[in-house]
Amino acid sequence: MLERMNRRSFLEQGGRLLLGSVTSLAGTGAPAAAAMRSESMAQASHQSARDAPGITLFLCGDVMTGRGIDQILPHPGDPTLHEGYATSALDYVRLAEQANGPIPRPAAFDYVWGDALAEWARIRPDVRIVNLETAVTARGDWQRGKGIHYRMHPANLPCLTTAGIDCCVLANNHVLDWGYAGLAETLETLPRAGIHLAGAGRDQGEAAAPAVLTTARGRVWVFSLGVASSGIPPDWAAAPGRPGVNLLADFSPTTLRRIAAQVKAVRRTGEVVVASIHWGGNWGYAVPEAHQAFARGLVDQCGVDVVHGHSSHHPLGIEVYRERPILYGCGDFLNDYEGIAGYEAYRSDLRLMYFLTLDPSSGKLVRLAMRPMQMRRFRLNRPSAEDTRWLQERLDREGRRFGSRVEAEADGALALRW
Ligand SMILES: [Zn+2]
Repeated sequence: MLERMNRRSFLEQGGRLLLGSVTSLAGTGAPAAAAMRSESMAQASHQSARDAPGITLFLCGDVMTGRGIDQILPHPGDPTLHEGYATSALDYVRLAEQANGPIPRPAAFDYVWGDALAEWARIRPDVRIVNLETAVTARGDWQRGKGIHYRMHPANLPCLTTAGIDCCVLANNHVLDWGYAGLAETLETLPRAGIHLAGAGRDQGEAAAPAVLTTARGRVWVFSLGVASSGIPPDWAAAPGRPGVNLLADFSPTTLRRIAAQVKAVRRTGEVVVASIHWGGNWGYAVPEAHQAFARGLVDQCGVDVVHGHSSHHPLGIEVYRERPILYGCGDFLNDYEGIAGYEAYRSDLRLMYFLTLDPSSGKLVRLAMRPMQMRRFRLNRPSAEDTRWLQERLDREGRRFGSRVEAEADGALALRW
């Protein structure tokens, strides 16, 4: 991420940047019967949210809790950076503060999630899956020949557990920023906190293995795939006896056959399969034909129910193909880029929570709702109505080529139509 940007210009320009309910149904003060009725309505409402048919997945794009974010959490690691122009992770905190105001230090573990916490509490997805775009380590040596190195101190892991993250996909271009020792600590730390992981491992078999998430509504298999176009160095590929990430060699029929065999080996009827894939560049709405063909191949030939794409810093258009959602790029969800100039036209300060409800018996998409957020002072906040509208129009525009539309709902959410 960001490797392609001109480091000097964004650090120098950092100062000139953009400045920028849950409704209770419980009765109060009413006659007893009415209060009871109101109370039972509240329960029914909550009940129906929980018992609505289908399994609901929360997905988002890159979650980068390292570097500047790590510095504001209760246990910041060594802030020393080896970037071309920034020498301390605290530089990123200062940039954000210059842009939007003071950030608490230390912040509580849940501070960064801000208004997203209320959305999770309200919608109560069955699983929460994120692309964790950082190593979780205090060990390791920075990777030479690479411009950016992200890490979060392991003692800051409650930042992820407080958000109820069930699964981190790791086949990305940052999990090995602190070498094999950093990767090893990441692989030890996440499961110890009860977080499932996929996409990286101590050898090829482990890196390619899916995570399995067991819910009251059935199991969800998560395959994590990385593609070199996202900036993953080729030598990060896991191999027999060598740790690394699950890096795809190509988009060939052979690759699809290999994934199809993996899916077939594990999935049973009524279970959901997610292919989470880190691919493509950081900016721009174009979706390569090769991505579309491969995503459709995952559906057609591998039995994948959800294609969860990421790497782009802003959301891309969505396709529903044979009733299966293909999210080509979910955009960044959490990072420390606030106050960094450039690419303002993409409004990458606007973030999206994706809530996908599927029918597990058929794997078909039932509903896809998105909740916009805006990153300010390293915290996710509800955006203005104007910003929500901008995002709705942009996603609607980008989805048309795939036959999908995005509409605004009364409560500020966006709904996919297909
Ligand atoms: Zn990335």
